[in-house]
Amino acid sequence: MPLVSMRQLLDEAAKGGYGVGAFNVNDMEQIQAIMGAAVETKSPVIIQASRGARQFAQDRYLYHLILAAAELHPEIPLAMHLDHGNSFETCKSAIELGFTSVMMDGSLKADGKTPSTFEENVEVTRQVVDFAHERGITVEGEIGVLGGVEDGHGAGGSGLDHVTDPDQAVEFAERTGVDALAIAIGTSHGAYKFTKKPDGSVLKMDILIAIHKRLPQTHLVMHGSSSVPKDLQDIINKYGGKLKETWGVPVEEIQLGIRNGVRKINVDTDNRLAITGAIRKVFAETPEKFDPRDYLKPAREAMQKVVAARMNQFGQAGHSADYTPLPISAMIEGYKSGKLDTRPSVAGAK
Ligand SMILES: [Zn+2]
Repeated sequence: MPLVSMRQLLDEAAKGGYGVGAFNVNDMEQIQAIMGAAVETKSPVIIQASRGARQFAQDRYLYHLILAAAELHPEIPLAMHLDHGNSFETCKSAIELGFTSVMMDGSLKADGKTPSTFEENVEVTRQVVDFAHERGITVEGEIGVLGGVEDGHGAGGSGLDHVTDPDQAVEFAERTGVDALAIAIGTSHGAYKFTKKPDGSVLKMDILIAIHKRLPQTHLVMHGSSSVPKDLQDIINKYGGKLKETWGVPVEEIQLGIRNGVRKINVDTDNRLAITGAIRKVFAETPEKFDPRDYLKPAREAMQKVVAARMNQFGQAGHSADYTPLPISAMIEGYKSGKLDTRPSVAGAK
């Protein structure tokens, strides 16, 4: 099966009332871990690469590794997504390479650090949407600014510094026509999201619910949604690591989001923790070993376990065979005819 449009994956998730995990990759083992989990749980899946990943691995390597995953597992609907594109050029280059979905994060300027103005965000996102939809490619935008920094991307600070304003979200959706929208409701990138155990009041779920009510046709995206489980932190620290105590987003909060329009959930940190813990364990317990396979294999297995758990928790498990993936040409037609138009003025009138 060729790579599938992320829009179709998310439309199907909306119909089925579940969320789809979007897992970050930098190398072959991570891609294999995700596919192993997708096969095991029969899940459609989004594999995403950040700009940092594209630099680390080089575009061509990542593209062909993900393509290999699609070839080996034709039964799994698989979308290849650019995480946090910082400019029109970055998104264009990903589309030209073969990504079936891009994120244009216009909430920050091209430096990936400084918050931009609303007008700047609308303008650059609209430009990416025009270019992408003509080619049948999905676009995720972002409004509001997430806290923290990951892969050199992020404004830093707490996740509550720039929470999304629902009125602006509606105007943004109308003026850009994005397929999916990342909103800031208090989550942060990285491992250090919360300094105390978060209770139900930590995330601005009321804002998410308000936005979904007004934009039922725009798929909402939760970034910075690793749960940072204590057992994964403990393994790292047990074998010589030095993580400070920290809390992520509780899975129940994500599930509440999924009941209210969240269709894509970004997870990276949890997988990083699983990999590092597994490698540390091998190094600590068997310091005489030096074959990379001796620690990459347990690392891959540890990540697969986390990914499979998330697939079950997000509800995507069991849905890989629900639908027939459309060719990208059908998506081009859908955008051209207006059938895939998500703008509230158009979609509302349907
Ligand atoms: Zn993000």
